[in-house]
Amino acid sequence: MHHFQYKNGELHAEGVAVTDIAESVGTPFYCYSTATFARHFNVLSEAFGGTDHLICYALKANSNQAVLATMANLGAGMDVVSEGELRRARAVGVPGYKIIFAGVAKTKDEMAYALSENILGFNVESRAELEALSAVAAANGQTARIAIRVNPDVDAKTHAKISTGKSENKFGVPFVDAAELYDLAASLPGIQVTGIHMHIGSQITDLTPFRQAFGLMRSMTLELRERGHNLEHLDLGGGLGVPYSSSNDVPPPPADYAAIVKEELGDLGLKYVLEPGRMIAANAGILVTKVIYTKSSPAKHFTIIDGAMNDLIRPTLYDAEHEIWPVREELRAEPNIIQDLVGPVCETGDYLALDRALPEFREDDLVAFMAAGAYGAVMSSTYNTRLLVPEVLVNGSQFAVVRKRQTYEELIDLDTIPDWIARP
Ligand SMILES: *Cc1c(COP(=O)(O)O)cnc(C)c1O
Repeated sequence: MHHFQYKNGELHAEGVAVTDIAESVGTPFYCYSTATFARHFNVLSEAFGGTDHLICYALKANSNQAVLATMANLGAGMDVVSEGELRRARAVGVPGYKIIFAGVAKTKDEMAYALSENILGFNVESRAELEALSAVAAANGQTARIAIRVNPDVDAKTHAKISTGKSENKFGVPFVDAAELYDLAASLPGIQVTGIHMHIGSQITDLTPFRQAFGLMRSMTLELRERGHNLEHLDLGGGLGVPYSSSNDVPPPPADYAAIVKEELGDLGLKYVLEPGRMIAANAGILVTKVIYTKSSPAKHFTIIDGAMNDLIRPTLYDAEHEIWPVREELRAEPNIIQDLVGPVCETGDYLALDRALPEFREDDLVAFMAAGAYGAVMSSTYNTRLLVPEVLVNGSQFAVVRKRQTYEELIDLDTIPDWIARP
């Protein structure tokens, strides 16, 4: 469910015509809907209604400051995976006690900063990290609240590049080693054990792997209690999928997800921490591009657009299929032809869609890639010296540029030429 619909023959984001935004900011651009962010947060929050829970939005999905402020105003905490993300969350005023810090490679400097912000907890992913955290915290007379990220070795049945809960993935501590690591944690200075963390992957559309993981979390909780650990929360990770193209699996409703959480873990009396990213942000954003040319070869019809893999890498990185909506609704009534939508970048992998049945677009048509609000703008690059595209946030009938388009000066001036190279 989202708030991008046709009105008067034109695609709108809530109450704003997408063409009006395009005229104002140019193309390509990302466009986000406040109402959709809010809806997804509220649906998840209601599914966990009556339980003690904190939704820590995984801001790596979309970390624009305006998006973070929107989420924070809804009551969200934040799940961060770097000092940069922690600084982003703090910059919009999210208090440290609502921030969880994950990631396999936290450096001592990052730990010291996070401790100085008195964050809710560190999700620790190895013995080496645990010992480093203890050393940093103890040296500063501080206490780090920790959960250990347990790798349950379950198959999330998702794309290989976004599966994290298999034993061959780099994430977490093997289930069989976790209890001993908890014992070690409890003995270390500067460490307070507060929870268990699991995050098995992303774009998960089947509840079975979640149920398996939560079942293991339950047995881990019971074992840790027997060993005398005092747990406060269970961090369930993120990973709930979203519908990308109509051919994709349909994700489970948040209420069904909440139901299995309660079935597996409800009697343990512990607070839940949730780390949704994609399910909050994906459908809340679109990437709007413009057709530059079309061309046909005997084998293919190509629509060449001004958006490219550097703006939205998901199709080429994850084989993602974003739905494609023409901004002019009348195009939808035209007969479809099979085509690739490709960008200006000099790479064969530079496509946003392959072999899709879509109307025959013409120059200057605007084309929207749906469900691009998560892992879209945040993964963009300046490859081919292309400028980072603007992000626009809509709220009802108003819109604002929440990140302006980069300028060529800003991009090129990042480089310096040392004195010892002669200027040509
Ligand atoms: C990426 C990530 C998330 C968010 O995953 P989504 O699939 O976007 O919900 C949550 N927790 C951790 C630790 C992550 O790395």
